[in-house]
Amino acid sequence: MSLAVLTAMGIEARAVRGGAPWARVEKFGIGPARAEQAASLVSGHDGTVVIAGFAGALDERLQPGDIVLASELRGPDGTVACGDPAILAGVLRRAGLRVYVGPIVSSRRIVHGARRRELAATGALAVDMESAWLAEAHGRPVVTLRAVSDSQDQEIYRPIRVASGVRAAFRSLRQASALLGEWADVLGEREIVLGSPRASCAGVVRAVDIVRQALADRGAPIYVRKQIVHNAHVVSELEALGAVFVEEVDEVPEGATVIYSAHGVSPAVRQAAAERDLDVIDATCPLVAKVHAETRRFARRGFDIVLVGHEGHEEVEGTIGEAPDRVRVISSVEEVEAVAVADPERVAYLTQTTLAVDETALVVEALRERFPALAGPRSDDICYATQNRQDAVRALARDCDIVLVVGSQNSSNSRRLVEVAERAGSRSQLIERADDIRPELLRDVRRVGLTAGASAPEELVEGVVSALDALGSVSVSERVVATESIQFKLPPQVGRNR
Ligand code: SF4
Repeated sequence: MSLAVLTAMGIEARAVRGGAPWARVEKFGIGPARAEQAASLVSGHDGTVVIAGFAGALDERLQPGDIVLASELRGPDGTVACGDPAILAGVLRRAGLRVYVGPIVSSRRIVHGARRRELAATGALAVDMESAWLAEAHGRPVVTLRAVSDSQDQEIYRPIRVASGVRAAFRSLRQASALLGEWADVLGEREIVLGSPRASCAGVVRAVDIVRQALADRGAPIYVRKQIVHNAHVVSELEALGAVFVEEVDEVPEGATVIYSAHGVSPAVRQAAAERDLDVIDATCPLVAKVHAETRRFARRGFDIVLVGHEGHEEVEGTIGEAPDRVRVISSVEEVEAVAVADPERVAYLTQTTLAVDETALVVEALRERFPALAGPRSDDICYATQNRQDAVRALARDCDIVLVVGSQNSSNSRRLVEVAERAGSRSQLIERADDIRPELLRDVRRVGLTAGASAPEELVEGVVSALDALGSVSVSERVVATESIQFKLPPQVGRNR
């Protein structure tokens, strides 16, 4: 898709042309009147319009050379919406630029002093003198990319003081322009097919609700052992509310409140917490707790237990801790032969809750071949949410060009979704959030399958839809393979149950 880049000043046009000599660059002059007229320069242009140039910082975090991408443009006559620039932001950040996404204010005149602080207080990141008028007159979404030429305390009407800021802005604008081609290559319409069910499961919703409710009941800080669920976005949101994440309970002050994560803990951790007189709230998913109970049951009956799972994963460590002398962990068919047991007639298997269903079935089959009397759990340990999300991703993989899975790198169930999609014949990629989408993933892709692991919130999926929509309009449909209505109650220590 073709790109037209509009700049107000000659120096800005030179920076853009220096980085993107292939782009159509138009210089239109400074101020609202020139900006309104500039819309006519691109009236017949059916590609994407980028407004590029310098801006003054409003937000005190911004320094000369930082890039601001507008989420919206605020002018005296109202606000103009912009497409979600997350994918472009990711391209620029990976190249080393400091990028902020947020509102840009367009002002009729240079702002400084108290007015500048007033505008900063509205949450706007930067100020320019053209974008809102130009975007309004253009009448279609534009991308606005501004390089900061002066920080909040170093105002642009003092040109000598800001000379170095302008140089920094020029360099950043040129570098950003050089990267526009990578992003512009994948502009275009697409279809998104959402897998359903997807995103947060009942165990994750419960665990996150427990932390929120505990913070509301008792106030910050509330300590949480390990990540409450394996999702960086969820963890940082809870941190902002006052949750303090620790690796072990010995980091928690004596007598303070500590919450165990959804992945569960071993009896040794419970013991250590009791010795420190900690006020414990257990957010272990009830389905993980069920595997712990099965481990204790088989151990009491003198069975050796083969736990199919990933060594080092928190859930597996917690389960092993229930009977450390009796549990052996394996993760593949190849490891079955080497399993050592005291009595082949008294062997049981259990599984981590978030494994790939198809691969685990093969491991259990190999165990049963080796130990015909193999005992197992009363009902499958791989949980309903894992099963449903894998079924949904398999359905997506059949007719999508790529399947994007939203989830963190340390999320077992999210990683399994990628593997399941790949085994079903699709390209697949795990992404933390929208700005993780590398444009090359979208090259020649018309239909995107989209899902999220059980630990990722739906709002991250919505962010990906909005970022893809900003590349060109998208049509969104849903492939539903199951409906979920499971909810787990909060423990008695929090909320109304208290
Ligand atoms: S994936 Fe399953 S076991 Fe894990 S927290 Fe969710 S519901 Fe519980």
